[in-house]
Amino acid sequence: MNAAVETHHHDALAWPFFEDRHRALGTAIEAWAREHLAHVPHGDVDATCRALVRKLGVAGWLRYGVGGTAYGGHGDTIDTRAVCLLRETLAKHSGLADFALAMQGLGSGAISLAGNEAQKSRYLPRVARGEAIAAFALTEPQAGSDVAAMALAARAEGDDYVLDGEKTWISNGGIADFYVVFARTGEAPGSRGISAFVVDADTRGLEIAERIDVIAPHPLARLRFTGARVKRSQMLGAPGEGFKIAMRTLDIFRTSVAAASLGFARRAMTEALARAASRKMFGQTLGDFQLTQAKLAQMALTIDSSALLVYRAAWLRDQGESVTREAAMAKWHASEGAQQVIDAAVQLWGGMGVQSGNIVESLYREIRSLRIYEGATEVQQLIVGRDLLKAHNAA
Ligand SMILES: Cc1cc2nc3c(=O)[nH]c(=O)nc-3n(C[C@H](O)[C@H](O)[C@H](O)COP(=O)(O)OP(=O)(O)OC[C@H]3O[C@@H](n4cnc5c(N)ncnc54)[C@H](O)[C@@H]3O)c2cc1C
Repeated sequence: MNAAVETHHHDALAWPFFEDRHRALGTAIEAWAREHLAHVPHGDVDATCRALVRKLGVAGWLRYGVGGTAYGGHGDTIDTRAVCLLRETLAKHSGLADFALAMQGLGSGAISLAGNEAQKSRYLPRVARGEAIAAFALTEPQAGSDVAAMALAARAEGDDYVLDGEKTWISNGGIADFYVVFARTGEAPGSRGISAFVVDADTRGLEIAERIDVIAPHPLARLRFTGARVKRSQMLGAPGEGFKIAMRTLDIFRTSVAAASLGFARRAMTEALARAASRKMFGQTLGDFQLTQAKLAQMALTIDSSALLVYRAAWLRDQGESVTREAAMAKWHASEGAQQVIDAAVQLWGGMGVQSGNIVESLYREIRSLRIYEGATEVQQLIVGRDLLKAHNAA
């Protein structure tokens, strides 16, 4: 990797958003990623992801996404800055490694936040060690951005709940050991009538209806629930609290999506600089042209502004502040910005930029979904706009 960009990364670690433990973590994960992620196979994504989860667990990195030291977590709450540093660094080296780490945190986040002791003891230590694969099942075919429109029903029957309906676009679908499923229990209309359940993958009546293939493949599936019976004890929090639990989980991990975007952009910058500095043309190098210098400067500005927004949001959250607006800004700017940075890197690489197997080509595919999931860009814009008006009207 290019020395200039590496210095750049370490400069960011000097920022006042971080404590010394974060600086040590940033350096350690960078060294680990270089050693372990140089050759991640992309052929069989299921096998690769299983292996990556195990490897990340053995190395101890998954502990940062789990809350509660008694349950294998690194701290008593999830350290947002640590999760962001891990995702940023892993994304620079391997999109699949970042995905594997992120999903352990997102898939078990609702248990860390709202689980009781029995639920936490049963699931979290295995998640932290990489022995159980987690998934977060919120989206449905008719309820994506408008998540409160979800229809999957959970009907109380004696000591059980019986689930009927579908979830789709579920990451780790097909390889997960359990799914945190949000379902309509009907205490009230809309978002107040939803509850959260942990559903083990081998529950009778739960099947993988379809595996979904996307431009940057990772395990993904549509799930079908047909009279799937789960014990009342598998409910997280109280009946009707599911929507709030989902939003609290996303509030932590949304900033980390921005951090992963930042990592992809940093890698694109490294690759762009390497190419600009070495590609000969018209009797000089590509980097000697002012048009190229302006492009590189724009990329660097986008990266630095994204980094500042990401770590402002992460730091604020770790101070116990509400970060709805800041996390939305970070996710919006870093994901859209990374797409532009990566596109510029592809352009600088010319024909090789679109050649399958080239790093900038894979980054171009990797970044695309991040502008859509965990709240599309338009949803983040609405969150920021509404929050501005709310603050204005309250003043
Ligand atoms: C790779 C991948 C992995 C995913 N993993 C998971 C997962 O693990 N668990 C899970 O539950 N879900 C997951 N999702 C689903 C994801 O959260 C949804 O795709 C997302 O919420 C958008 O929903 P939708 O696809 O139904 O699009 P729609 O809701 O139909 O939105 C389509 C588009 O409409 C626009 N839009 C949305 N709202 C507004 C608005 N108010 N005003 C104007 N325009 C708007 C946006 O541009 C948006 O992209 C994943 C998706 C992808 C692509």
